[in-house]
Amino acid sequence: MTQYALIIDGKKITTQDTFDVLNPATEEVVAQCSAATPDHVDQAVAAAQRAFKSWSQVDMATRQQKINEIADKIEANFNELAALITQEQGKPLQAFAGLGAGFEVGGCVAWCRYTATQDLKVEVLQDDDQGRVELHRKPLGVVGSITPWNWPLMIAIWHVIPAIMTGNTVVIKPSSMTPLSTVRFVELANEVLPAGVLNIVTGEGGVGRVITGHPGIRKIVFTGSTPTGKGIMKGAADTLKKLTLELGGNDAGIVLPDVDVAEIAPKIFATSFINSGQTCAALKRLYVHEDIHDQLCEALTQIAQGVKLGNGMDDGIDFGPVQNRAQLDIVRELADVARANGARFLTGGEEMSGPGYFYPLTLVADVSDGCRLVDEEQFGPILPIIKYSDIDEVIERSNNNPNGLGGSVWSKDIEKAKAIAARMECGSVWINGHALVKPHVPFGGVKDSGLGVEFGQQGLEEYTNIQAVHIEKA
Ligand code: NAD
Repeated sequence: MTQYALIIDGKKITTQDTFDVLNPATEEVVAQCSAATPDHVDQAVAAAQRAFKSWSQVDMATRQQKINEIADKIEANFNELAALITQEQGKPLQAFAGLGAGFEVGGCVAWCRYTATQDLKVEVLQDDDQGRVELHRKPLGVVGSITPWNWPLMIAIWHVIPAIMTGNTVVIKPSSMTPLSTVRFVELANEVLPAGVLNIVTGEGGVGRVITGHPGIRKIVFTGSTPTGKGIMKGAADTLKKLTLELGGNDAGIVLPDVDVAEIAPKIFATSFINSGQTCAALKRLYVHEDIHDQLCEALTQIAQGVKLGNGMDDGIDFGPVQNRAQLDIVRELADVARANGARFLTGGEEMSGPGYFYPLTLVADVSDGCRLVDEEQFGPILPIIKYSDIDEVIERSNNNPNGLGGSVWSKDIEKAKAIAARMECGSVWINGHALVKPHVPFGGVKDSGLGVEFGQQGLEEYTNIQAVHIEKA
């Protein structure tokens, strides 16, 4: 059985204590992973602090070149990384609409390449007889990155690449359920980067807690659930760390009566069930105008009944399992609650026999706000469809939720859709699309969905402090 090592200061370290990583499609052990202790976190932080002294002084062009070399390494190992993602996470290699492990690895390459074109420019705030004031952006020091299990490699790239591009060094802790592709990526990146710039410690939430409170770390970038994010904010307070928190979502999609149902149904389906619904900004509550409600339900049901679930390593599989048993139990429970509330299951909802944490793609109608399936983040392959008649009321209902990650409006009338979008309380709104994150566009949540943004210039700048340089002339 392969044992994946920690990587600290450019060296692999295997530990006596290990944990198993399971394939959610088979429940078989894929590999074992080294379990880091607090002492390993100390070593990783010390290595990152040493590396920061020189890495922070390396010029931007060299760092950009290193990021491109990392992208080359990922491309050269594309198939291995995609297979690791499928085995540890469950998403098929290709998947429905091509949104599988291959898409994830391709996205990693694209993100690296785009980030390598970004820069931190000096801004001149004043230049006159009195003096000149320049605003400089400086790296923070050691960044702690803590990632979830749904898009393990993509999210690691989102954290690590802008951090090191801006001159920081990193200690990353992936989810203990999906650490393998991230460990392999860190190995590859260490073939390019100086020792200590990027370190990885693997283990459960306790390792994350040590990172969060560590006095040698200046910032935490965290993607995961809202309760864990709130705990991280508390744990980081004593050492006054900067935070970027990308937390849970319960994105509403509002469909107006003027849409072409046949045209939008496949798009709504793909964005609701991407990665079997285990995507932070997937469409999770679908509000449909009564005039087209039945027609859209019928179109979505037809698509759902034509897809194939299975082990994502096999050919022709559209959707994989839920990633872990605990998440499967949440999905089952929310389905049971909806059923008990009188909801109508258009398709799915039945138990599947094992092995694997499979749950059928499930569409639920005759359900509304106040039912847990609508109010809470399901993070799995079950979509509530809520009929509405009044637009003002539906906007209020979509906002009446603690989350505020994304939202969407579906209509042929773009001006009307924009007016509705402006009233939605969320960090991103898409018109006639959903969950379309782009490397040049800042992405982040409001309300309980998080703090700060990733991507774009604003996302890059979150890895820096500003320093105002005053040159007095008079
Ligand atoms: P999680 O919060 O359970 O775990 C995330 C990471 O935090 C893991 O690495 C875990 O080991 C670590 N962790 C657990 N307890 C910790 C603690 N006390 N201190 C520090 N670290 C700790 O989340 P998950 O179940 O892996 O991911 C699913 C959630 O992530 C969903 O709510 C989803 O919406 C959210 N998510 C959000 C985004 C976004 O961009 N907003 C993206 C992906 C996932």
